[in-house]
Amino acid sequence: MGSQPEVVVVGAGIAGASTAFHLAERGASVTLLERSTPASGPSGRSGALSHAFYFMPELSQLARDGTSFLRTMPERIGQPSDFREVGLLWGFGEALAADVERTVERVRAEGTELETLTPEQMLELAPGFTADGLAVAMWEPTAGYADPAAATAGIVTAARERGATVRLNTPIARLVANGSRVTGVETRDGERIEAGTVVLATGPWTRPLLEEIGISLPLTMERHSIMALDVPDRAREVLPFTWCDDTLVHYARPDGEHRVLIGSWAGGGTGYRHPDVPRSEVTNPDVYQGSVSDREAAWVLELMVPRAPGLADLPLGRGWACVYDMSPDDAPVIGPVAGTEGLVVVAGSSGHGFKLGPAIGEQVARLVTTGEAPLLAPFSPDRFASGS
Ligand SMILES: Cc1cc2nc3c(=O)[nH]c(=O)nc-3n(C[C@H](O)[C@H](O)[C@H](O)COP(=O)(O)OP(=O)(O)OC[C@H]3O[C@@H](n4cnc5c(N)ncnc54)[C@H](O)[C@@H]3O)c2cc1C
Repeated sequence: MGSQPEVVVVGAGIAGASTAFHLAERGASVTLLERSTPASGPSGRSGALSHAFYFMPELSQLARDGTSFLRTMPERIGQPSDFREVGLLWGFGEALAADVERTVERVRAEGTELETLTPEQMLELAPGFTADGLAVAMWEPTAGYADPAAATAGIVTAARERGATVRLNTPIARLVANGSRVTGVETRDGERIEAGTVVLATGPWTRPLLEEIGISLPLTMERHSIMALDVPDRAREVLPFTWCDDTLVHYARPDGEHRVLIGSWAGGGTGYRHPDVPRSEVTNPDVYQGSVSDREAAWVLELMVPRAPGLADLPLGRGWACVYDMSPDDAPVIGPVAGTEGLVVVAGSSGHGFKLGPAIGEQVARLVTTGEAPLLAPFSPDRFASGS
């Protein structure tokens, strides 16, 4: 290589790709290193539901901006994301009703069109559904889903077009540190690449890389599955919108014209488990069951059937499972680590990270080039050590 980059970004998932893109757009000299191909980790296997509604203000602002980026990628960066603006309907029980009302007001004031619905109003939008156990619903019409692999690859292409160096099939073996300063990375081929800042966006592979330089973060991994229903030409008829169900811990969306996808958020913060389903904790992100058995698919479907009884008799298609990295509070882990210079960690997105990714990249690029990104403050890796 010629001159050393100012910034090395490791990992071309949605977060690393976006960070490299936004750094290049800001004129920084940036090299993006990916051990395989873009979106070869969880980013490429994401459900890719994208919306602005979150209870935590910083999360919903990142989600709003990330979703907006995904929606407007063709005009914004000349790359496809295949965003389908089908809207998001989300049902909640009594315990969260007041929080939902408040959050809808706030998110609307922050610029996203959305409204609360009574269960009766919800049923007008979703005629085949039941409203059992629901006290309120939220409707966000500009939400939807993207093609996560195409979007991530598109952002990598756009980063390259803006001057980023992109090196695929280049796994890094370790971070290189001199005292308390990270000075670069070493690839598995033994090449050393120095950089003023290393952004480590390696998803579930992050923890051991940090531990080798003495940084311990409470990142864990969970396997999550998505089952599919084969409904040729009828997907939008069966499920016209994306759906989240807070009481029955599942989400669903149409997938183009021919499939409906359903996922469970059992595990994570929910504590919900099922004896027939493989344990979701994973210790090695390269070793987990990537397929979904009919038994597991049936279990995921059972979560949704009480809400949408018409799904019960539809034929099962082929789903998939993947691992993602979790933090103890289910919020991303982003920023420098106290006592270490030259390093920014971007990990722990805990099942939300696809929609957040484009905005996380923008904020991290801002942090690296200006030293400031207030929106990222609550996600500091140091919050675990300080107990905040
Ligand atoms: C089944 C499932 C459903 C999901 N549904 C949604 C959803 O509906 N909405 C949503 O917003 N989010 C969803 N998510 C979560 C979302 O996909 C992730 O949070 C997000 O993709 C994480 O992106 P990332 O860039 O941080 O990490 P990753 O996608 O993990 O990318 C990390 C990259 O780093 C690379 N890498 C690792 N180690 C090295 C190394 N040593 N050297 C070089 N490169 C390396 C990997 O190959 C990988 O490409 C879902 C995830 C799964 C698995």
